[in-house]
Amino acid sequence: MRQTQSDAATRLKERIAQTGAISVADFMAEAGAHYYAHHVPFGVAGDFTTAPEISQMFGELVAACLADAWMQAGKPANVRLVELGPGRGTLAADMLRTLARVEGFLAQTSMHLVETSATLRAQQATALAAYQNVQWHDRVEDVPAGFTLLIANEFFDALPFEQYVKTGGAWQQRAIGHDEAQGFYFTVLPPEEGANIPPAFKDAPDDSVYETSKTSLAILDVLTTRLAQWGGCALIVDYGYTAPALGDTLQSLRRHTFANVLDSVGEQDITAHVDFSALRGRAEKNVDVFGPVAQGDFLGALGIMARAEALCARATPQQRRDVEQALYRLTAPSEMGTLFKVLGLTQKNGRIKPAGF
Ligand code: SAH
Repeated sequence: MRQTQSDAATRLKERIAQTGAISVADFMAEAGAHYYAHHVPFGVAGDFTTAPEISQMFGELVAACLADAWMQAGKPANVRLVELGPGRGTLAADMLRTLARVEGFLAQTSMHLVETSATLRAQQATALAAYQNVQWHDRVEDVPAGFTLLIANEFFDALPFEQYVKTGGAWQQRAIGHDEAQGFYFTVLPPEEGANIPPAFKDAPDDSVYETSKTSLAILDVLTTRLAQWGGCALIVDYGYTAPALGDTLQSLRRHTFANVLDSVGEQDITAHVDFSALRGRAEKNVDVFGPVAQGDFLGALGIMARAEALCARATPQQRRDVEQALYRLTAPSEMGTLFKVLGLTQKNGRIKPAGF
């Protein structure tokens, strides 16, 4: 059931009244949970569009990469095919349709969707109605043990991020306060001991912003520990940057237009750009890491041109235009081709070298 804007906003106002300003991460967690619980954000009528919603080619090529990893590993039994944050279930459905054609694969496989929103779980169940062996979990640690093939598309950008801002010569955590006169506003928490600012940024000028995501790193640890123990391959696709950088990347999209992060709390998504260098550095302790490579290069190496041609060969003129436009949106540097990046993770034994890197 759809609730009004005031639910998330009211809860946050009450919390701030009780405890004082709260961190950007806590604000994102609460506003994001409300947003995904009450909205289906994707598509033309929604707030933003993701790669699988643009074209089936995305899920088909991700599936091809994961199926190839499975073959490189010697076709193990008891595969856990995992998706983090499956949205409407479109990517999972495109993958399963493709994987159904890989001999012996689905019979060995159970699908595990890690999703916290009941609204989106229901949509995913509808999208995957044709398949047995689909299970839902709240957290990646709840997925049963076994060889793991995992995809996370636009999942990490939606997780809570901490922001630190250099203020009067000291790094302070950015926070959100509220009062009746101003509504929600940005402020800072008192300087904290042990704020983990990388040495290279310690002397940055005032007003510099450093972002980190404790939640992302904790989830990454769970999944790399899993890969180290059971083997497999994980693909993390998201928009973000590859070298450590300063800057405020917090953003909201409403009906495909950038909106003020503090407006319409709980009614619009709040995301940040993913720091791939941080993910890479953290993952390397447990697994072999490939990339990040640009999404356009990844899809190109996996054969998106040939796939587009095959789809066009049996398409109407309108469908052909759609395929060509989707190809452009997924791969062109001015569209998703460069900003979006792909990181590959495998067990540290050299058995799997994922395709596309
Ligand atoms: N992968 C999809 C949707 C991305 S949107 C696509 O490409 O279209 C982010 C998804 O992550 C949503 O399904 C949202 O409900 C889910 N999500 C957000 N935070 C989560 C969390 N902490 N745990 C599990 N799922 C979460």
